[in-house]
Formats: sequence, structure tokens, C-alpha cells
Amino acid sequence: MGGGGRSLEDVVVGRGSVSTTCRSCGGEGLESVLDLGSSPIANNLLRTGDPALSNPGLEPRFPLEVAFCAGCSLVQLVDALPAEVIFSSSYPYYSSFSPMLVAHAGQHARGLVAARDLGSGSFVVEVASNDGYLLRAFDEHDVPVLGVDPSPGPAAAAREAGVPTLTDFFGLSLAQKIRAEHGPADVLIANNVLAHVPDLDDFVAGLAELVAPDGLITIENPYVRELVDQCEFDTIYHEHYCYYSCTSVARLVERHGLHLNDAEFFPDLHGGTLRWHVGTVPRRSRRVEDLLRTEREDGVTDASYYRGFAERVQQSRADLLELVHGLRDEGHRIAAYGAAAKGSTLANYVGLTTDLVDYVVDRNPHKQGMLMPGTHQPIRPVEALVQDKPDYVLLYAWNFAEEIMAQQAEYLRRGGRFIRPVPTPEVLS
Ligand code: ZN
Repeated sequence: MGGGGRSLEDVVVGRGSVSTTCRSCGGEGLESVLDLGSSPIANNLLRTGDPALSNPGLEPRFPLEVAFCAGCSLVQLVDALPAEVIFSSSYPYYSSFSPMLVAHAGQHARGLVAARDLGSGSFVVEVASNDGYLLRAFDEHDVPVLGVDPSPGPAAAAREAGVPTLTDFFGLSLAQKIRAEHGPADVLIANNVLAHVPDLDDFVAGLAELVAPDGLITIENPYVRELVDQCEFDTIYHEHYCYYSCTSVARLVERHGLHLNDAEFFPDLHGGTLRWHVGTVPRRSRRVEDLLRTEREDGVTDASYYRGFAERVQQSRADLLELVHGLRDEGHRIAAYGAAAKGSTLANYVGLTTDLVDYVVDRNPHKQGMLMPGTHQPIRPVEALVQDKPDYVLLYAWNFAEEIMAQQAEYLRRGGRFIRPVPTPEVLS
């Protein structure tokens, strides 16, 4: 991990570390494909009374620019802020709060138990195991499990729920330690973590070290094709160093003696998620062959695929501003739902200041009472929607649109409306 103890102040003076070589293959020739300007750290919520509220120059902003590697097709941020700067401002996120994620995890676990014939003699490890919401699903099959998660709050919640969990970052040295103590893992799971990994080689080397001979590694991450095709530019923020295709994952794991053997697509999960199946022996499925071929044919392996992206993002921004200004001109009041990182990218890039969006609601009590980075809207409990009845609510957390709308039936019944901001702003009915 770059940076070695640099403080936020040290970094803000310069540009962070600007990478001229690929984070995965080390190749030169990164091509810039999208520049979102400079943005505050997406999870860096402000407290009331913060000096930056009256003097915005005090709030650090960093470039948010995306590049493509011609060598291995990996899409990545040009400026890599040190992980300790980014993650020191993260708020604990508990996956169990989302029924959709819990259902998805249960299906994943049951599928693995059946496909790999897992039982009391097996060993399953999950990296970035959060509050144990997935590993708990192995309970009924008596499969021994171990979680790894650096976030103390969720890791403690997992242990309370009976899921043994190490509070640590995953990499080669931790993998060696786990293997020495527990033996190799028949199944290794890494969901929604690969984008956050600053040292990809150390992370994948750890997976290769810990997986049993002929074991299985499953990795879930949003698909870069959805980011581009659905114009999901708000999923770009400093915490997400990389954006993956099947091609870039295949090349990454191959450098560590592993093989991309299969891939499943979940269109409704986080705006379109792929689950990659990685093994120690090559056994490529028809399904993943088709995905790799389609990526080649459609040019995902070439910078040209990304060249129209910037224009579409700019159009999306213009469309959203026009809609929001139009509603304000008609006298409507607008709030937003979801004080998460993607809301920060959206609001700061589009320019959704307090004269356009009054406040943001969020279910996380740790965030309530704080203010959004950059745009400085106050964050209120979700009950504010029914009590205050803003005319429109921008769904910053559009990836949970169905769940949110189901929870907010009362707000809808009273005439409230939701707006999905990307790819083209749309008032939902
Ligand atoms: Zn590369």
C-alpha cells in the first residue's frame, strides 16, 4: 500500500500518488477515459461546526480520474490515495440491514454446499465477511467457517452471531497464518472487496496461498460493462481503485497461477454484479468463454470502448440538473435518500448544492446529524420523509430502489415521488 503513514494534510498538498503504471500488470500506457474533476473523500462526512462549512477551501478534494490499461484491460483510478486516508473516514456498514443482500448470500451458500459437497470436514473462508451475514448461512450444514474483516464493528457483530472472525486486512501473510492454523480452504469467498484493494498482487497471492488443491475461489464485484453501459459514474470514488471485466480478472489471477473458470451475472445486484469462479486448475466453462469473447468483440479490451463514456456522463449530468432546476422552479422541494459514497460522487460531480437538494436521509444512525461531504446537506433519519414530505426524493442509493420504495410506502401514499438519477434521470411511479 502506497503512502506509508502520510497524513491527509500531506496528501492534500500534492495530488496523492499519481500512477503511471497499471495497478495489476504494471504495464505503462494508461489512457485516461473519464475525468470527474476533484471530489471530497466520499465517506468523509462533516460534523456540525466544522470550519469547512464556512470555508469550503478547508475541505480536501482530490482528483477523480479513470484510466484504462491497454496491457490487461483493467480500468482504474489514476490518483491513488493511501488506504489509511480513505478508510479512516469510513462508517461501519452492516450487510445484514439489507434483506436483498441476505437473501443473495443464502442462495450463494446453499449453492456452494451442494456444488462442492461441503460438510463438517470442509473449511470455508470469507474475506471482507462484514457482520457474518453470508457465513451464517453455512451454519445449518455444520460447515466450519472463518471470516476476515478489517472493520471492528461489523467483525464484532459477526463474532456475537457465532461466526469466528479475524479483524484484519487480507493478504499473503495473513493467508499463510490462517493456513498454518486451520489448513487450506475448500472454498474462499471475496465479495465486494476487490475494488477496494490497494495492493492487488498481495491480495491475490493470499487467495492462491490459502485455497486448497482443486478448491474454489468466488469473487463478486460490480461489472465494469454496467458502469459504462448504464452510465453508473456515481460508483466511481476514491475507495474504488479498480473496475473489473472478465478479461482483467482472468489476467490478474493468471499471474498468480490461478484460472478464471466460470462467471455468473446478477443484473439487479449493485447495478450489475459478476461472480467469478476461480480455481487452481484450468476448467473454463462455456459461459465464461462466451463472456470473454463478447468482451473482445465489443471492444471492452480496447480503450475505444470507453471513449464515448465521458460524453454520456456529461449528458447525464446535464439532464439531471435540468430536471432538478425545473422542479425547483415549479416550487417543489427535493430531498435525497442514501448518504453513501455514491451519493457523494453524484452530488459533487453534478453540483447538487443545498439550494437544489435540501437534505439527505439515511438509516444509519452514525450518519444522522452529520453533513454530506462537499455539498453539505444535513443527514436526517428516513422518518423525515413522511414527517416533512418533500415533493421529490433523489435516490442516491438507486441500487436499493425496490427496497427503499417498499419501506417508504407511506411517503409514496402521501404523494411523494422518487427520482432515479442514472443513467437518465427518471421519476419512478
Ligand atoms: Zn494492466
